[in-house]
Amino acid sequence: MVEAFAVASGKGGTGKTTSTLALGMALAEDYDVTVIDADTGMANLLFHAGLDDADVTLHDLLVDERDAAVSDAVYERFGLSVVPCGTSLAAFEAADPGRLRDVVAELAADTDVLLLDSPAALGSKSAVLPVVLADRIVVVLQPTVPSLSDGLKVQEYAHSYGTDTAGVVFNRVRPDENVDRIAEQAGRYFGGQTLASVPESDAVRAARREGKPLLAHAPDDPAADAFREAAARLDVRD
Ligand code: ADP
Ligand code: MG
Repeated sequence: MVEAFAVASGKGGTGKTTSTLALGMALAEDYDVTVIDADTGMANLLFHAGLDDADVTLHDLLVDERDAAVSDAVYERFGLSVVPCGTSLAAFEAADPGRLRDVVAELAADTDVLLLDSPAALGSKSAVLPVVLADRIVVVLQPTVPSLSDGLKVQEYAHSYGTDTAGVVFNRVRPDENVDRIAEQAGRYFGGQTLASVPESDAVRAARREGKPLLAHAPDDPAADAFREAAARLDVRD
């Protein structure tokens, strides 16, 4: 494997799942990319990737008794290998989050880039493990000071486990917002790098309703361009 990225944020709803699939599709132009829904408590990547009816999911790999093979939970979609997670609360409670380490190791042996769609809050083992397992984090933020403050805590946590910062994706930027000032502040704190400023876009919402990643639903949308720019700036290790 070349590199594993955790797509993280302080709070929910910033666009981590949207970003994970968009960055994944952009990187898939050059790499074998595997995307994992590691948000095992509030999994929803399956809805974004048309995998609502997936039979075997990450939950089956994390629950001891289920005895599923990792390959059974990998779905080839949109040029990506996608490992969705189920939405059952019972499965989440039965899951041993520590098993994610083995799942990631097995997937890593067979891919170039791993993207871990990560939970929002810190605090529990299932919430922090994706960040701990990754080489670098991509922090998805709204272009506001509170969001930046949340992201800094995630970064602090990541750094304490030896995970570096790849940079920040500012998401849902409205036309009247000037992200320069906040980007400058983020630049000072987030490894010097703003990866992209992704506009608020109807196409993003429509893509989710269609169960398709943005880059499959509306590849020419300005938000898709911004995600491609972010992927290029990641400068994946060779
Ligand atoms: P998270 O995984 O961080 O909780 P999601 O990727 O699920 O966030 O996004 C939350 C909601 O916001 C979704 O309904 C998604 O369609 C919408 N959304 C995300 N990014 C944008 C954007 N750039 N423009 C418009 N809607 C967006
Ligand atoms: Mg999500």
